[in-house]
Amino acid sequence: QAKKAGKNTVRFFDPQMQANINARMQLEADLHRALAENRFVLHYQAQVGKSREIFGAEVLIRCRHPESGLIAPKDFIALAEEIGLITPIGQWVLETACRQLKKWEASSKTRHLHLAVNVSPRQFRKADFVDSVVRILRETGIDPSQLKLELTESLVLDDIEDTVVKMQALRGIGVRFSMDDFGTGNSSLSNLRKLPIAQLKIDRSFVRDILDDPDDTVIVQTIIAMAKNLGMDVIAEGVETEAQRAFLEMHGCDAFQGYLFGKPVPIADFEAMLNR
Ligand code: C2E
Ligand code: MG
Ligand code: MG
Ligand code: MG
Repeated sequence: QAKKAGKNTVRFFDPQMQANINARMQLEADLHRALAENRFVLHYQAQVGKSREIFGAEVLIRCRHPESGLIAPKDFIALAEEIGLITPIGQWVLETACRQLKKWEASSKTRHLHLAVNVSPRQFRKADFVDSVVRILRETGIDPSQLKLELTESLVLDDIEDTVVKMQALRGIGVRFSMDDFGTGNSSLSNLRKLPIAQLKIDRSFVRDILDDPDDTVIVQTIIAMAKNLGMDVIAEGVETEAQRAFLEMHGCDAFQGYLFGKPVPIADFEAMLNR
């Protein structure tokens, strides 16, 4: 069939493919509009220490859509990354998080909270990434050590030289780094040692079956031991049950995040949690 219709025409008129292209262009236009109309929102998911005290939160982006309601990051981050819109979006996330930290400074209850912000590869690779973080820190006037940037292993390894320079510059002014989804990538010990990483964040996939799957048990034990040897602390993501929390704590995990302590929620709900 393709041959009959000729080389250059068939694919273009494939109705399914055309539908995909239309859907994508629609989503692309939606994303641009969402940014212009300020329709991104941040949800806050508690991070807790060994005595279950909330010491901060990870900020997780969502997009408000007039018809579809709240759109999850899995449905727009990859496309935003592809078309470069992730840079202004990521900038907005950082600014919003730092402004929130500034607001919290006024009250003794919230003064020392930390916020963890996800950074995307394209955003991090921009030549002015360090400058833009420095500018936001200066403009908001927060203590840089209250900001934690979450990077993934693949981001870090993609251009290790550029990564080292940027991480060291930011570490030099007090910003901290967490390795997100740790254990799913290929970082070697020698790479990890080159980088000023404060924290390893154990990926949810290892936490899920930690009690039943001996492989996951060993992986988690190894990650925690490695972190300790490198002088880093460890947080586990996706902690859903008390049994998982207890097991992780027994093996030396310092901090926890997951539905057991709270789902990601709007700022008002998060502040209500702090007051309970
Ligand atoms: P992530 O950074 O690994 O974030 C953790 C994800 O796990 C979040 O999904 C969170 O809602 C979910 N989660 C937390 N605890 C539990 C749990 O106990 N059980 C289960 N099943 N899930 C849990 P979310 O909010 O849908 O975000 C997905 C991903 O989107 C994030 O993964 C991150 O990679 C990306 N993302 C979110 N916000 C941003 C952002 O502001 N910028 C960038 N570049 N990426 C973002
Ligand atoms: Mg994260
Ligand atoms: Mg993660
Ligand atoms: Mg994850």
